[in-house]
Amino acid sequence: VIEARGVRKRFDDHDVLRGLDLAVAPHEVVVLIGASGSGKSTLLKTMNLIERVDDGQIFLQGDDITDPRVDADSVRARIGVVFQHFNLFPHMTVLDNVTLAARKVHGMPKGEARTRGRELLESLGLGDKADEYPDRLSGGQQQRVAIVRAILTEPEVLLLDEITSALDPQLVGEVLDLVRELKRRGSTIVMATHEMSFAREVADRVVFLKEGVLVEQGPPEQIFDAPQHPATAEFLARVR
Ligand code: ATP
Ligand code: MG
Repeated sequence: VIEARGVRKRFDDHDVLRGLDLAVAPHEVVVLIGASGSGKSTLLKTMNLIERVDDGQIFLQGDDITDPRVDADSVRARIGVVFQHFNLFPHMTVLDNVTLAARKVHGMPKGEARTRGRELLESLGLGDKADEYPDRLSGGQQQRVAIVRAILTEPEVLLLDEITSALDPQLVGEVLDLVRELKRRGSTIVMATHEMSFAREVADRVVFLKEGVLVEQGPPEQIFDAPQHPATAEFLARVR
């Protein structure tokens, strides 16, 4: 679905991504792990064209989205993104937050967007929050709303960056349950997380980055129980 080929990114004199290759298959859940500063967020940002690659290419369903002639907004319309901070609009209801992009970016008629928004909120356990304002919701509920907003238009891939790291520990579970549900429904997901137990549970493939290099990747059992590379073992020993 989405593929990075030889992606390089440098900030000033710091090589943050040093020739990364990563191809994500349909319905696959790929979890990026690695120390702070290893380049996980930067990789997700290049996939969403928030950051431009310095070298290499990124393909979305075969389209080279790093081609300078490509319209970034039309690419972003095909990708769902949720970051650490949910960034809901405080002056808009949950339903308006969830449907805004569908209407403005995708031109979905208001009635259709609202119907779909209510259905999706309902099916994901947030139906009774549709007409509330975000400040009436818990952090976990707000983050779940942000996820609903990201999937309303059925993006080709969902990029999730540390979506639980700003939450109180007791609120993490409900957000992870929602990701589990999206996986069950067949979403294609690339996610960066520091939650190793969740990575083990939800990932089809775990990718370990170190200093902008893909050091090792494989099924969670392999990465967590029998890492092949000393750097992976060292990282896991530190975070566990
Ligand atoms: P964390 O686990 O803390 O989220 P990360 O793996 O997501 O870390 P990145 O956010 O991708 O790491 O950052 C990788 C490196 O790139 C860091 O050293 C960071 O300081 C640097 N960096 C990221 N964005 C910029 C920027 N806009 N300008 C300069 N340096 C940046
Ligand atoms: Mg990050």
